[in-house]
Parts: sequence; structure tokens; C-alpha cells
Amino acid sequence: MTRHLPARTCRDCGRNRPNHGRGLCRGCWLRQWRATNGRYDVATGTGMGGPGIPKTAADIAARLEDYAFLRALNVRRLDIAARLGVSYRTLNRYDARLRQQQDTA
Ligand SMILES: [Zn+2]
Repeated sequence: MTRHLPARTCRDCGRNRPNHGRGLCRGCWLRQWRATNGRYDVATGTGMGGPGIPKTAADIAARLEDYAFLRALNVRRLDIAARLGVSYRTLNRYDARLRQQQDTA
């Protein structure tokens, strides 16, 4: 999938490479992914119907940015959800957040 995405300046190494999510190139993304024990970034919850885990504003902002980036490329919503490790319904919440940001901006 990475090869279909346009290059962006990587947040970590600063090189202009295809973006792999979180503003990182694939190498930096993989390094972070391994460092976080296979998780996307922070835990999204404790499972179906379980209580959510509070996320920091930075975590949410990073995911929102990734979501907006992928959506602008017309990536299918189901693919975005799988890639970000969130549910399809969470994308609806991200849409609402993005609309809210546009309204206040
Ligand atoms: Zn990088």
C-alpha cells in the first residue's frame, strides 16, 4: 500500500519518502511499531464493549491527521480503519471532529 502513497517529509528522519502513517516513512513507522509491541500507537480500548482507554490530545491529533491524509487520497474507509487500527464507527467520530475543527477554524 505504501507505494501508492505520495512522498512526504518524514517526521522522524526528515527524508522525503512515501508516507506510511503518522507522518513517518516505512522504516521509521516500522521502528515505532516494533517498539510499541505491535500496536498502532496507544491502545484503542480493552475490547468489545469494554471501557475505553483515555487518549492524550497528541494521540488523537496524530490519528486525525493520518485519517484526513488517507481520506484526501480517496482510500476506502474500511481500508483506513484497518490501517489505523480503529473501528469503522470511530471514523465517523473522526469525521465529526474534523467538521468541528473546520467550523471553529
Ligand atoms: Zn523516516
